[in-house]
Amino acid sequence: MLISRFAPSPTGLLHLGHAYSAFLTQNLVENNSGSLLLRIEDIDKTRCTSDFEKQIYRDLKWLGIHWNDTPIRQSDRLSCYSYYLKKLAKKGLTYGCDCTRSDIKRALSAPNTPRKNSNTTVYPGTCREKNLSLDNQNIRLNIVKSIAYLKKNTLNFCEEGTGPNGESGTQVVSLDSLAKNYGDFIIARRDINTSYHLSVTVDDACQKITHVSRGNDLFYITPMHILLQKLLDFNTPKYVHHPLITDGHGHKLSKSKGSESILNFRESGKDLETIKSMLVCNSN
Ligand SMILES: [Zn+2]
Repeated sequence: MLISRFAPSPTGLLHLGHAYSAFLTQNLVENNSGSLLLRIEDIDKTRCTSDFEKQIYRDLKWLGIHWNDTPIRQSDRLSCYSYYLKKLAKKGLTYGCDCTRSDIKRALSAPNTPRKNSNTTVYPGTCREKNLSLDNQNIRLNIVKSIAYLKKNTLNFCEEGTGPNGESGTQVVSLDSLAKNYGDFIIARRDINTSYHLSVTVDDACQKITHVSRGNDLFYITPMHILLQKLLDFNTPKYVHHPLITDGHGHKLSKSKGSESILNFRESGKDLETIKSMLVCNSN
């Protein structure tokens, strides 16, 4: 059975972009007699509030989104992420990093550091050989060791939607380019002992998600998730990336830019059909 999920973060009010994503995911599920699960991605406690979470349920109900089972909340699952983090640590694939942002910036601006371009923020591996304790540190995934562990040069995933540049079908991920483009990324932040990448990968596996439906702004980080799935012996789901809803100027809608919320639309008397027609006009 097809199982997909809608996974909002309660850091603000849902806007048209969320509604679009939720409708597409619900359509995917309904067209395949599947199941839609809801996940509240609230690991960042400094930005998430329970009021926004409650509003998510109200907005989704008003939008006619139906989910199966009780929603899961990432903040309730920290021990589960910690379990899988330890698994990676036991395989010798992680290390502690005590670099500050400015340490990393300084290391990257050193004259002998090879850089693809001036915007590159790939971690230079400063702490890789330091053997720092994993307690109370940011924890990074050692990509070179991970590649050696997998004994592979490439990973694959199936794109059933489209990436930002029209990518679809089987996507081949070169592990060398993953190392070059992402470096040893953080899989557990010191303050929450997990990360977006680790939590999402673990939750998709635990919720037995077969199809990950989400905006194509996440397409290019998918290789990080595929890598974590392989290292943790999880199945790789299919991916169905969709275009983002944009404002009149081609910019992505976001909470921080004050994009009009579903709540505002509703309170100003707009009905569901009006919302749906706006989505058709704004999708590209
Ligand atoms: Zn470091």
